[in-house]
Amino acid sequence: MAPSYVRRLFARLFGGAAGADKASDADLKLLVENSRDVLCRLGPDFVIRYCSPSSTAVLGRPPDEMIGQRPSSIVLEEDRPVIAAAAERMVQGEDVKPLVLRTLKPDGDMAWVETSSRALRDPQTGALVEVILVMRDVSERQALQRRLEFEATTDGLTGLANRRAFDEALEREWARAVRNDTELSLILLDVDHFKAFNDRYGHHAGDACLRDVALAVQEVVRRPGDLAARYGGEEIAVILPGTPASGAAKVADALRLAILDLGLAHADSACGVLTASLGAATATGSVGLTIAMPAGLLIGADGALYRSKHKGRNRVETVTLLPPKRGAHAA
Ligand code: GH3
Ligand code: MG
Ligand code: MG
Repeated sequence: MAPSYVRRLFARLFGGAAGADKASDADLKLLVENSRDVLCRLGPDFVIRYCSPSSTAVLGRPPDEMIGQRPSSIVLEEDRPVIAAAAERMVQGEDVKPLVLRTLKPDGDMAWVETSSRALRDPQTGALVEVILVMRDVSERQALQRRLEFEATTDGLTGLANRRAFDEALEREWARAVRNDTELSLILLDVDHFKAFNDRYGHHAGDACLRDVALAVQEVVRRPGDLAARYGGEEIAVILPGTPASGAAKVADALRLAILDLGLAHADSACGVLTASLGAATATGSVGLTIAMPAGLLIGADGALYRSKHKGRNRVETVTLLPPKRGAHAA
């Protein structure tokens, strides 16, 4: 790379010639070539003209493989529209904020890269002359962020969604049900006589039991869009979007049977093995016009669960929240 080019690059990157003038060409070359960030110079056609050596470490491709390519060629297909939109904005004369994109290395590994770009324009016409692109590996940061997101939404004991994720999902799914006037069902599952289970077999066995119950629930709740969450201590909630009362009753009974089939010994249970009681509530989007929702679904499912307990446990009770035009709130 010609040192004079490095000087120009720095002058443009850092907003003036002052810093660049003080540094020697050798200093600037040293900085560019030893930066952990990948520094690229793109033509107005977004084809890479220069690429710094760190592309080998960051992108798994040496500079000579990058030159002549567009950056989008190494980005995952799903992320390419984001680049296309950014390039379009840049051509239109707008600034582009940093983007976080997934790049694919030749060995198939993926790297998260944060790209910052700066357009250099003809001072007379404003036309795009070249683009300085800086790419930084943010894979570790992304992995940490994803782990934090996972931990913030997952229950540590069972691996199910936690209460916070459940609350958000219920609000989101109810909003969707209202938008599309579709049905939304909610099941509440409560393990029977679980205090007695803990008292007899110990808290550790109780925890292991909850994990088994959660696995059994996940085996039943497999449809994309459905969500099983730990609602409380030994209570699990299942959100079933687009599901009518008949479907919710079927899923609830499948859950009841899956827990019964675990065959976990429970001497204080009427049938000698661990069981659960369930309550299911179903509403259509229009119900919200008269009942506070989605809280009404929780109240409905909780009432149905209470009836299951009252009628002897190890059973399913259901409730349908009727739309106002049929003249009732709940049946
Ligand atoms: P019911 O059939 O009426 O539901 O009776 P129950 O004993 O299951 O209900 P209760 O609400 O009286 O007791 C729930 C018990 O669940 C209390 C607590 O010991 C147990 N529990 C709640 N969370 C956990 C947990 O994370 N681990 C364990 N081991 N036990 C838990
Ligand atoms: Mg309970
Ligand atoms: Mg219980």
